[in-house]
Amino acid sequence: MQARLSVDAYVEGILSGNRLILSRAITLIESQLPSDRILAQRVLEQILPHTGSAIRVGITGVPGVGKSTFIEAFGKTLTADGKKTAVLAIDPTSQRSKGSIMGDKTRMEELAHDPMAYIRPSPSGGSLGGVANKTRETLLLCEAAGFEIILVETMGVGQSETVVKGMVDFFLLLMLAGAGDELQGIKKGIMEMADAVVITKADGHNQSAAQRAVIEYQNAFHLFPPNENGWFPPVLTCSALEKRGLYEIWNQILQFDSQSKASGFHVKNRRQQNLEWMHSLIRQTLEEQFYSHQAITQQLHEVELMVQNEKWLPMRAATFLMDIFRS
Ligand code: GDP
Repeated sequence: MQARLSVDAYVEGILSGNRLILSRAITLIESQLPSDRILAQRVLEQILPHTGSAIRVGITGVPGVGKSTFIEAFGKTLTADGKKTAVLAIDPTSQRSKGSIMGDKTRMEELAHDPMAYIRPSPSGGSLGGVANKTRETLLLCEAAGFEIILVETMGVGQSETVVKGMVDFFLLLMLAGAGDELQGIKKGIMEMADAVVITKADGHNQSAAQRAVIEYQNAFHLFPPNENGWFPPVLTCSALEKRGLYEIWNQILQFDSQSKASGFHVKNRRQQNLEWMHSLIRQTLEEQFYSHQAITQQLHEVELMVQNEKWLPMRAATFLMDIFRS
């Protein structure tokens, strides 16, 4: 374990774009130690004025859709365009001890060696809310370190899309051609969150199926009302293997960015996201306090058994425990 730095050393290191210090600051943010949390908070407060200018892009899609290959190729497109790019992931199931650092680096080997890119694997384990809040803070650190594009990848399934949507400006949904919505586990709600849909692997024999999928999804989008900022989500194709369609996606993101900045949506959305972040922190803190409360930890198991054995209704058990917590 490395010694901790002073607040100033972290802040100066981050602002000067020192990756080593950036990584150490992220580790500090991910620490559960109360003394680290205080230090992390002070670092965050100081870097805050230097955050906010990056374009934050969420990327989701079922496993196998080609997310890693896409992010690697897309990230290379961005860095070739002179954009410093950071890649973060939300994965509530990730276990650092199982080698997710290596996992992420080998998943995107070329990008990992790109001096213009920075890849940080998901914080290890914990609740989705906890992991998400650390990713939000990491995003701010990366912005302060000069990264202009932040790609946030969802790796868990289900709830993590909503969580990522709550921290990005643009939400990209990757889909396979011809697999059918149900097979892909894509619910209407996720389609509604998307600012663009990209049909992946549009190469070789798959090209005509990809074109058909574009029409299918364009038709589906016509049934939805336009997004709050008047943006109609485009449906695009790409081949990460053949490196085609990537600039078109980037162009759409840039168009979206200028449109939402001009209309005031960008500011409004970020403000709303900050409010939701605050509420998520409150929920997380309350939950942590509840489950670490001494009397609760003593009684919880017994109460759980009562509920399992149908001696108590969950409602009664919850009220009983909340009364203990409040007393
Ligand atoms: P993830 O699970 O969503 O991260 O998907 P991966 O990036 O690991 O890709 C899953 C599989 O699809 C791998 O075998 C890739 O080689 C393949 N794949 C990814 N992108 C493309 C593409 O653009 N074209 C083709 N033909 N295959 C691809």
